[in-house]
Amino acid sequence: MIPYATAAEAEAALGRAMTWAEAVWYQYSAAMPDSWLHCLTTCILFVIYTITPLPLLVLEQFAPSVVLPYKLQPRVQVPLAASLRCYMEAAFVFPVAVGFQLVSYPAAAKILRTRMGLPLPSVRETVAQLVVYSLLEDYLSYWIHRLLHTKWGYEKIHRVHHEFTAPTGFAMSYSHWAENLLLSIPALAGPVIAPCHITTQWLWFSIRLIEGINIHSGYHFPFSPSKLIPFYGGAAYHDYHHYAGGHSQSNFAPLFTYCDYLYRTDKKSRPSDVSWSLFVFFFETGYRYHKLKQAKLKSLEEDNVEKKGGSTAFCNGKKD
Ligand SMILES: [Zn+2]
Ligand SMILES: [Zn+2]
Repeated sequence: MIPYATAAEAEAALGRAMTWAEAVWYQYSAAMPDSWLHCLTTCILFVIYTITPLPLLVLEQFAPSVVLPYKLQPRVQVPLAASLRCYMEAAFVFPVAVGFQLVSYPAAAKILRTRMGLPLPSVRETVAQLVVYSLLEDYLSYWIHRLLHTKWGYEKIHRVHHEFTAPTGFAMSYSHWAENLLLSIPALAGPVIAPCHITTQWLWFSIRLIEGINIHSGYHFPFSPSKLIPFYGGAAYHDYHHYAGGHSQSNFAPLFTYCDYLYRTDKKSRPSDVSWSLFVFFFETGYRYHKLKQAKLKSLEEDNVEKKGGSTAFCNGKKD
């Protein structure tokens, strides 16, 4: 709750006029308790999770020919019921998550130290925080994901997420509860280490959710603006990880490709000489690197389709 009774008081405290964004924020949040703003995070994420996968799902059901050229595993048709099952599971967890957020707010406020009032963060501060959060989350998630691919981790926890060998957007959150809990640590690590404004937090979790839905969408669009992000893995990168299934020991990172490259768990053939690898790592542009990787993953998948043949090459049921 903003501790000023009027906008004039807020401006006097700031020592300047509010920007239009700050005026909007003041109007919206002045009388709203901080615990509500905190819980809005889950509400925003649920709305995004509901809406984002829908366009592809509708096109796949009613106009498949439009999106088929961009489908990563074109011979697999994920049943609509399977996608809806994933969504309903998330919908069931949603009220529980909001309740947990409300109850845990006093502790969360101390740990996250989220700012709710004025001034709003500058664009530079927001971008810098998002970059740090992304790098930190990618690194921690990489290692947690690798642990989940040990025999014990896979059998006891990660197996659920790999039920989909050809994932869809709604399957992003289809995981064992322990995995969802574990992977929330990397996402929260950035905001805990470098506290931010609640609007930055909403932006960060929204970006992570949309990115998670994107890499599980099962589609790769050549005109996607994500191709411009250096070292970004993308849908083809993670789709291959699902396609390879429980035996996969590659493409672990959720966002970028540098961890898999550095720890040699990517699917890119490269010279074994370390110095040459470092040279390539530092001087090859992210865009070129990304393009090369996407092309190789695509050709690898097509080879496998050829070898295995037919729709039985992929499965979407329980995988042993
Ligand atoms: Zn995995
Ligand atoms: Zn996945």
